[in-house]
Amino acid sequence: MSNRDNFSQPTKDIIAKRAGGLCCFPGCGSITVSASDESDISSSSTGMACHISSASPGKNAKRYDSTLTPDERMHPNNGIWMCYKHGKLIDTDEVRFETSTLKYWKELGENISRLMHEKGVDYTTALKIVPKQLAENNLKIENLQNENQIIGEALFDSCIHLTWGEKLANSIRDFLIEHSRNSIIHGKGGSVEIKIDYNKITILDNGNEFHPKEFASIEGSGGKMAYSYLTDLFKKDIIITTQRIGDKNRTVISKLNQPEEIFDITDCSIELSISEFKYGIQDYEIHESCQELFVVLPKYFTASDFPRNGVVNKLENEKRPITFIGENLSDMVVGMIKDKYPKSELIII
Ligand SMILES: [Zn+2]
Repeated sequence: MSNRDNFSQPTKDIIAKRAGGLCCFPGCGSITVSASDESDISSSSTGMACHISSASPGKNAKRYDSTLTPDERMHPNNGIWMCYKHGKLIDTDEVRFETSTLKYWKELGENISRLMHEKGVDYTTALKIVPKQLAENNLKIENLQNENQIIGEALFDSCIHLTWGEKLANSIRDFLIEHSRNSIIHGKGGSVEIKIDYNKITILDNGNEFHPKEFASIEGSGGKMAYSYLTDLFKKDIIITTQRIGDKNRTVISKLNQPEEIFDITDCSIELSISEFKYGIQDYEIHESCQELFVVLPKYFTASDFPRNGVVNKLENEKRPITFIGENLSDMVVGMIKDKYPKSELIII
């Protein structure tokens, strides 16, 4: 007798219906059910209900969760609907496809089919408009052998190409590969950890203290090219920040949904009220290890909220590079910020 906690047929049907019969592999969306020529009442299915946490323990069964009961393991919540090709892919590589990744894919796939059903839009449109985030994914690079594949697959699995766009995703992949190599070779670190989650990618390495900009200054290096390309082309879209924390370098690449999310990413950040903006901020404290300052601008400010000449403002004496983060700024206000703080960067959300 099998000791696998297999799905019953009614459970498989629930899993398929919740996904609208479409494959949940991000970007696939293949239809898996149709009429069959066999008889007037038969249908054919090329889809499969895959276990998120494995149905049974086994060699390398990373997704087997011994804390689940058999009922939980056989529940529709533990199943994701896939076309045959992608079902085979995730079932044969339990190391690559983590539980958290598949749970996110299931949620995304179900939300896409719901949008198609409710709004009458096609798959491509639904994929574009469905709310998305990065699927959680953690990896560790301990030697330089197949870092291209490990990083490339982890990024793809996080849905970054759908969430942040193909071009930015590809540039980030280049940067992560070069950055990992630099950390291990030049930084003499033993390992690089990459954590992908929600709106950010965190890179931790235990090598010597360094900032990607420093390696980026090595003329002709791949690191320089990847960093420059990423920061030049996407400086209005993403934030890259590096801080030495304990014995590790922590670099975070983030795409903010709200200006205030910067406080979760770095403590090298402050927030200004309208009066602090207008009358000048007299004092703020950020950690001495901060190599840059992020300033969240007040909401809805306009021309006459800008400080008059002669206002004492600590920001004007700030030696570190400043990046302002604002929401719904008018072109007039953007122009005034550039005039007032010509060396600053501005990210508009
Ligand atoms: Zn598929």
